[in-house]
Order: sequence, then C-alpha cells, then structure tokens
Amino acid sequence: RSLDERTRTGLALDRDLRRAAAQRGLEVHYQPIIDLRTGHVAAAEALVRWHHPEHGPIPPSVFIPTAEATGAISAISDLVMTTVAENLAEWNADGLLRDGARIAVNISAAEFSRRGFVERIASTLKDARLSPSQIELEITETLLMSDLETTARRLTELDELGFLVALDDFGTGYSSLSYLHSLPLHTLKVDRCFVRDLRDGRSETITRAILSLAHGLGIIAVGEGVETEEQRRFLIDAGCDLVQGYFYSPPLPRPAFEKFLRDHGASVDAEAA
Ligand code: C2E
Ligand code: CA
Ligand code: CA
Repeated sequence: RSLDERTRTGLALDRDLRRAAAQRGLEVHYQPIIDLRTGHVAAAEALVRWHHPEHGPIPPSVFIPTAEATGAISAISDLVMTTVAENLAEWNADGLLRDGARIAVNISAAEFSRRGFVERIASTLKDARLSPSQIELEITETLLMSDLETTARRLTELDELGFLVALDDFGTGYSSLSYLHSLPLHTLKVDRCFVRDLRDGRSETITRAILSLAHGLGIIAVGEGVETEEQRRFLIDAGCDLVQGYFYSPPLPRPAFEKFLRDHGASVDAEAA
C-alpha cells in the first residue's frame, strides 16, 4: 500500500511539475560568478526554482531527477532557456552585463541527448536576437561517458555555433582524462566537495591538480561552493580563475540579481579590483 501511495504521490508531483512548467510556475534564480583577478561578475549560473502551491519550495535536487525519468525535463529545460534568453536580452538592452559576461545553464543528459537539441537551443537564442557566446552550457562527466562519440559531435556543433561549454562537478564522475583535450571545453568547475574539504590535505592536492590540469589545457577553472574567506584565499593563491558560492552571494531571484549587478558594477571583490 505504501508503494502504491508513493507511486500516486509521484504521479501527482509529476503532473504538478508539468503544469508548473507549462504555466511558467517555475522561476529561474541567478548566482553570480566572480572573476578573482578583477572582482567583476564574469558570469551567473541559472538555477531553476519550484514553489509548489501546497508543499512549498521543492529543491531541484529532488525534482530534476524525477523529471529526467518521466520526460518532464524537456518542458522544464525549454522554460529555463526561454526565461534566460528573455532576461539576457533585457540586461543587454540595459547595459547591466559586462562585455564577455555569460549565463551558465545546466543541461541534463536526457535533454542533451534528445534529437534536435542543438537546433532548438540555437533557435531560442535567434528568436531573442542573442549571441550564443553569452550562453555557457553546463554538462556533466557522466554525460560525456555515456556516448562519447555522439556527445563529441554535438559539442563540436555547439562550439561552431559559438556556444561555450562547461564541465560541471568536475572530479566526481567516472571519467577518463583523455577526452579533455579533444573536446571544445571552455570551463571546468571544481566540484563543491573539494572546496568544502580544503582543510583536508587530500582535497587541497586534488584541487591544485584540477587547477593545473585546466590551465595546462587552456581551460578556465571555476571553484564552486566557496563559503569562507579561507576557501577564497586558498583558491586565489592556487590560481583559480573564477568562483561562486555563498561567500559572495546565494542564487538570487531576478530583481535581487539585477540589484547585485547594479551595486557591484565596478567590483564585487574590493581586494581584487
Ligand atoms: P549544480 O549545477 O552543481 O548547481 C550548484 C548548486 O550549488 C546549486 O544548488 C546552488 O544553489 C548550490 N550552491 C551554490 N553556492 C553554494 C555554497 O556556497 N554552498 C552550498 N552548500 N551550496 C551552494 P541547487 O540550486 O539546489 O541545484 C542543485 C542541482 O540541481 C544543480 O547542481 C543542478 O545539477 C540541478 N539544477 C538546478 N537547476 C537546473 C536546471 O535549470 N536544469 C537542470 N537540468 N538541472 C538543474
Ligand atoms: Ca551547474
Ligand atoms: Ca556543480
């Protein structure tokens, strides 16, 4: 009976999620990503938020995996991408973003592998008259390993169109390093777990190794989940390029993110500037 109940709850949630995606009941929040050398907002990561009418906020770590399994992820991805494109077009018009600044969007494996993914994303940007170079697609190692040949082809197409690609949660997947130099990757994101445990000498060694690997290959490195001054200091000294985390700002609803951009037009990090 409990299994039956869970199935029914799952179905109800899936139905609510699809409805939310169709009726724009999902929001996109933005977390600033800071350039450690200049203190500028170099980018921001778009993160989807769902406020369920009865259950309240449900975190993406809960509903994204379900949505991937049921297929609802397509509607969510379309909504996120359309929202980002609309917001980006306005920020460009208002001059809120610096030259070269980009918005990072998480792309789940199920979505990336779907037929027509490249065409759809390209046409969303074209409709909003945006350059693909303002979008960074965050993919995971797991995606790379599932079907390297198709993935590589798709990444090359995206690269040729001008999109940037970031490898998210780096160091947590089961991957071979050999693909790193053959794929058009712009950014490597050092997973939060290494940054969190920097006091542990092994995490420090791994973080240094990832940073050196990225730099040797001409790839930009982002430290994720920076919460303390100590972590920030370590990453600056280790030569990390960009950081994101609660130390600077949590993911913000659009108006608060715009305020952040206005308040920190010159520099977020006074020391870096
Ligand atoms: P992610 O891509 O690794 O996103 C970073 C997560 O770290 C976000 O969690 C963010 O709120 C959190 N974070 C940022 N700074 C800190 C910090 O200093 N400390 C800690 N403890 N956490 C920090 P969030 O928003 O709950 O998202 C969780 C995951 O859900 C994301 O992990 C991503 O895999 C997925 N996700 C979120 N939005 C989307 C989306 O629009 N599409 C897809 N496909 N997946 C998404
Ligand atoms: Ca991400
Ligand atoms: Ca991540």
